[in-house]
Amino acid sequence: MYDENNIFAKILRNEIPCEKVYEDEVSLFFYDINPQASIHVLGIPKVKVTDIYDFIEKTNEKDALSFFKSINKVIDKLNVKNSGFRIISNTGENGGQEVPHFHVHILAGEKIGGLR
Ligand code: 5GP
Repeated sequence: MYDENNIFAKILRNEIPCEKVYEDEVSLFFYDINPQASIHVLGIPKVKVTDIYDFIEKTNEKDALSFFKSINKVIDKLNVKNSGFRIISNTGENGGQEVPHFHVHILAGEKIGGLR
């Protein structure tokens, strides 16, 4: 069940500030407070969904497409299309998800270590 008091829900309600990169009626992108790369942006849809599975299950096609199109807008804004980037969505306990509102991490600006 969706937790209305998760940190990203509070950010969406403007109860906690964030450093915005891009926002429209469907999505919000902002810098991670604890960056794991020189560029670390989080992207969230405004719909109340807990993880990527929930997002795919519940979101209408128009908004789902809009969210993914927004990723490209952010990639262009960050100017990392050519240098490359990594997109991650941690899901559930084994996936290491801490905040239970679906989000993608966009990591860029340097060679990203870890997963191959
Ligand atoms: P997860 O582990 O759920 O995939 O990622 C949650 C991310 O949210 C972490 O990278 C963490 O640094 C970030 N985060 C947690 N609290 C805040 C906050 O209040 N503001 C921002 N901008 N990022 C946060």
